[in-house]
Amino acid sequence: MSNVPVAVVTGSNKGIGFAIVRALCKQFPGDVYLTARDPGRGQEAVAKLQEEGLHALFHQLDIDDLQSIRALRDFLKEKYGGLNVLVNNAGIAFKVHDTTPFAVQAEVTLKTNFFGTRNVCTELLPLVKPYGRVVNVSSMVSSSALGGCSRELQQKFRSNTITEDELVELMTKFVEDTKKSVHEKEGWPNTAYGVSKIGVTVLSRIQARMLNEKRKGDHILLNACCPGWVRTDMAGPKATKSPDEGAETPVYLALLPSDADGPHGQFLSNKTVRTW
Ligand code: NAP
Repeated sequence: MSNVPVAVVTGSNKGIGFAIVRALCKQFPGDVYLTARDPGRGQEAVAKLQEEGLHALFHQLDIDDLQSIRALRDFLKEKYGGLNVLVNNAGIAFKVHDTTPFAVQAEVTLKTNFFGTRNVCTELLPLVKPYGRVVNVSSMVSSSALGGCSRELQQKFRSNTITEDELVELMTKFVEDTKKSVHEKEGWPNTAYGVSKIGVTVLSRIQARMLNEKRKGDHILLNACCPGWVRTDMAGPKATKSPDEGAETPVYLALLPSDADGPHGQFLSNKTVRTW
């Protein structure tokens, strides 16, 4: 088994994830795994970094596929006995003018952004070693979507005692409510992406709390963040930040020094803790 520290970035064949891997290759003292659901796109991205003189390793990972997540888990357990840095970056968004019915957009978006990310956490968090760092890439849109929720939902999503099961129930209810076209009546905002990212931010707060309760002595720091508005296939060419600039906050959180006792369980943008 290798003692080398290891970092994993989900959805990193392009966009912000790719830029996070690029930065980690330069700054992380260990093996950096670029992961992608499509091995061809993943290997191509590794080759692109190679041309820049950077050495990333590749492992397949489709966060929608539990078998794929478990294959990565088993690989990390066997080769490294765990992992040191996990960046949950993979995500999807329908374009604003997409005509796919809203209920389908809700189901598909929540499936990857919330349920897929949660499945990765369920399988990989137990492997995170002491002093490990976990970064869940959410979005400022989670804050604006929270503002668009009913008072009752806002209270639940801001609660310091909400459980993961309760959060899963709420995310499932959103999808069901869109199918019955009652989501607005039930207090939800009209954004599937926004609700999926509320899920990611609240999940991070819950996971950080669980780490405090169950693994206090392990000094693991887990946070959610917004990369900013970044020029990628998702956000388009008019966005204000380059992918490398978008990677800055996630990389800052992934590389928090071993003597740092925070941030933990926070939502950050531009390396600054934001009020949730
Ligand atoms: P992007 O360019 O579209 O890249 C998304 C990445 O996620 C791609 O590598 C994609 O792989 C991967 N992915 C999608 N579904 C996946 C799955 N099921 N399993 C594994 N990988 C999957 O988007 P981006 O702008 O870099 O976004 C990265 C993250 O930042 C997302 O979580 C996004 O919500 C968040 N974010 C972005 C912005 C922004 O302005 N760009 C702002 C706030 C938050 P394929 O190539 O195979 O599709």
